[in-house]
Amino acid sequence: MITDTLPAQFAAQQFASDNYSGVCPEAWAAMAEANSGHAAAYGEDVWTAKAADAFRQLFGTPCDVFFAFNGTAANSLALASLCQSYHSVICSASAHVETDECGAPEFFSNGSKLLVAQTADGKLTPDAIRALATGRSDIHFPKPRAVTITQPTETGQVYSLDEIRAISAVCRDLGLRLHMDGARFANACASLGCSPAEMTWKSGVDVLCFGGTKNGMAVGEAILFFDRALAEDFDYRCKQAGQLASKMRFLSAPWVRMLENGAWLRNAAHANAGAQRLAAGLAGVPGVAPLFPVQANAVFLTAPAAVLEGLRVRGWRFYTFIGGGARFMFAWDTQPERVDQLVADIREVARAAAA
Ligand SMILES: *Cc1c(COP(=O)(O)O)cnc(C)c1O
Repeated sequence: MITDTLPAQFAAQQFASDNYSGVCPEAWAAMAEANSGHAAAYGEDVWTAKAADAFRQLFGTPCDVFFAFNGTAANSLALASLCQSYHSVICSASAHVETDECGAPEFFSNGSKLLVAQTADGKLTPDAIRALATGRSDIHFPKPRAVTITQPTETGQVYSLDEIRAISAVCRDLGLRLHMDGARFANACASLGCSPAEMTWKSGVDVLCFGGTKNGMAVGEAILFFDRALAEDFDYRCKQAGQLASKMRFLSAPWVRMLENGAWLRNAAHANAGAQRLAAGLAGVPGVAPLFPVQANAVFLTAPAAVLEGLRVRGWRFYTFIGGGARFMFAWDTQPERVDQLVADIREVARAAAA
């Protein structure tokens, strides 16, 4: 059945996921612009060349750049390029690669095992990496070869530059490569106010997956190899994995415009502001509090079950299977009034639940 009116719960903005949002005007315009006439296929077009140049310009370094359809593939293929099948990859217990990619990192690497570190707040630490990497050195254990960190983390915290540098120092010491899952990389840049270069290659990151989808594009993630030797044959890896877009200009053109005019950073700053607005609005509500420091575009709330139920009854959608709280995510298009409405509803249901 085709209807031209949306169900009521979708007509108003929801904050269940930053992927509930649509395509930002800059990305949409770039796709329209790229949609004139014919262009060479499989990444041989001018848009893809321009996008790779725009990344090199933004990061100030001659990195190798590739485009994939989604983050699961970008992460998995990037990690596979760092490992042989008998290697292992150290990650946090809450890492997307571990909890939300259906085993794709192991699948695309032909078996490189994820070694999971339990840490207090979901961030990897130098000590946790060292413990996992040096706990076993016999031939029966998969040899540690890479570390992956998520910036910002799945629960919305940001690694400081000092934390990234401390991790990369341990990696260098132990002969490990460092991968960064930047599905929300722009949000971390906006949060720290540092340059993309400082956050990555200047702090020892070898490979970055830079998320476009959650930043406001229809589809697409970029994979940047700062150590270009690691990019050898990566194009074949993408093709074999079904990630070589034949009409690649539609994945790459949005990056050109968004990187050149700063929309990537504006979108992220706007999303982060939505999270700050919710967190600030809830100060002092009894029983309701952020579970984690709010440093990017996510707010995870702990709240009595009656409050969460009350919010659902009022039509709010959110997930509780990630991070242990009720997750609210903000996107490039977050309407401040809608955040205020959420705040007002939380305050009312909390008051009713306490009465
Ligand atoms: C969304 C996300 C991804 C990518 O997910 P896809 O659905 O495969 O695009 C990767 N890492 C993190 C931390 C994410 O939140």
